[in-house]
Amino acid sequence: MTTSPTHPADERTTVLDLRYVTCAYQPEKPAVQHVSITAQEGEIICLLGPSGCGKTTTLRAIAGFEKVTAGEIYLNEELVSSPNTHVPTERRRVGMVFQDYALFPHLRVYGNVSFGLQTWSKVTRVERTKTMLELVGLTGFEHRYPHELSGGQQQRVALARALAPNPVILLLDEPFSNLDPDMTIKMRKELYRLLRQTNTTAVLVTHDHQEAFAMADRVAVLQNGILVQYDSPEAIYHLPTTQFVAEFVGKADFIPGIVTEGRVETEIGDFPNQPHYQGNPKVFVMIRPDDVKITPSPSGHARIINRQFRGSQHLYTVQLASGHIVHSVQPSDHAHPIDMAVSLEVIATHTVLFEHPVELTS
Ligand code: ADP
Ligand code: MG
Repeated sequence: MTTSPTHPADERTTVLDLRYVTCAYQPEKPAVQHVSITAQEGEIICLLGPSGCGKTTTLRAIAGFEKVTAGEIYLNEELVSSPNTHVPTERRRVGMVFQDYALFPHLRVYGNVSFGLQTWSKVTRVERTKTMLELVGLTGFEHRYPHELSGGQQQRVALARALAPNPVILLLDEPFSNLDPDMTIKMRKELYRLLRQTNTTAVLVTHDHQEAFAMADRVAVLQNGILVQYDSPEAIYHLPTTQFVAEFVGKADFIPGIVTEGRVETEIGDFPNQPHYQGNPKVFVMIRPDDVKITPSPSGHARIINRQFRGSQHLYTVQLASGHIVHSVQPSDHAHPIDMAVSLEVIATHTVLFEHPVELTS
């Protein structure tokens, strides 16, 4: 699901432009600080980070529910937020999908979806509502009330309602958190298809990196109100710029190494020094469990100390001769016992180096 729209990014309109945005509920403690993000037309952007990092605040600032204390927000090249400017929400043409869907309980499906079309002529309103219901697969449900629908159907109504007035941008705050896991995966695919089909620019908030990777063209990782990386899902996973990002989007181990000319020497082998790193030669190399292959070997210097069954895979915890730990993911037909001596083969597509020591995790 990660194919980008066919247009090259530079030919598309910049629909969303956040420039050094700061939002503070309390002046001395900003919830979001100096955040800069752009989204091109048709792009799906994910705001990713742990609870409290400022995702909802950023989304609410874009929607105009929160004022910015510094910086600017542009929607379709119009300044909508700055310390001296605040275009109200209803004039921003943003579509919102909330965590709890926020459907109008006293309105039927038809009334909910057509709600934002009150300024449209009767004929176009009826036509548009019909089209939206078709798009989300709810034709025939027009007369139901929200409480007569499943969670997935309610979410479809919320999506149809948000998209009906043809918003400049769709903003979604953890839209799948009230669905069970099977339904979440189904609705993610549906949402993705719907956004692409309608070429809708969207900002999706999530704390789930799998969701961000499955949906996003670009992922903005926030930590304590600061944007730490804004990149493609692949770059976020393979080329994280901080240890926080490395660990937030998957399991990562950090092995000490020494940078010499063009190479990084470690206990588990040498790696190319690419992209070229020039800092302190004492470094830590990030290793992902999917980069490590283990093979039983009586003369191997590493030892399996734990094995976790994960269905289609096993996650092994392996201790090196030095005592450092790495993890290895292997297909579940490779079941090796604990204490077995193994040799390691590391096939990393990128060498990611960090300067600072990392606490060893097991
Ligand atoms: P997230 O959506 O990533 O969980 P939020 O944007 O909701 O994070 O919150 C960011 C920070 O702002 C947190 O420290 C949170 O406690 C604080 N915060 C959020 N909303 C308010 C509010 N209405 N008043 C005061 N502080 C708030
Ligand atoms: Mg939130």
